[in-house]
Amino acid sequence: MKVHRSLLQLNSEIATCMGCRLSRKRRNAVPGEGPTDAEIMFVGEAPGESEDLQGRPFVGAAGRLLNELLASINLRREEVVITNVVKCRPPGNRPPRADEMEACSKFLSRQMAMVNPKFVCTLGDFALRRLVGKELSIAKVHGEKRSRHGRIFVPMYHPAAALYMFRLRETMMKDFRRLAELLRQQ
Ligand code: URA
Repeated sequence: MKVHRSLLQLNSEIATCMGCRLSRKRRNAVPGEGPTDAEIMFVGEAPGESEDLQGRPFVGAAGRLLNELLASINLRREEVVITNVVKCRPPGNRPPRADEMEACSKFLSRQMAMVNPKFVCTLGDFALRRLVGKELSIAKVHGEKRSRHGRIFVPMYHPAAALYMFRLRETMMKDFRRLAELLRQQ
């Protein structure tokens, strides 16, 4: 896996960031992972408990489903970049607050600029509203390609939602097949 030095440097800045209140309670910051030349970047909401413990994104139950969805279109986790809107766990997994997302946004912008992926897949409403449009709802736009600021976004449901709403799994599988189709058309 090719990871450019500047991305490693950025990860270590994130690991020691004290830019908002979330840094005080975290065990580990979770910068994200994946190769610098990835074609797809997934952006979730915020690390949960397992991620906070391991310092890696999507390693709990939602992550296992994400791995399955990737495998369903013959992608390996190592081929894509996976990160979050905020890099530290909000206490008790509460939703990230506006000032926390703002404090962390410089990191996500730099990650997107360094990797320059063909597609950014937002996972869930938080990443969708933060990156694509604050008036949007994932139920309406999932699986649809959208352009913004010269980037192509493909909004997806958050895999955690499919853990408690089983019927969403099929929807997510379909949206991943659509993503595979978009990749083929490149
Ligand atoms: N949920 C997220 O949004 N991100 C993670 O890294 C794990 C669970």
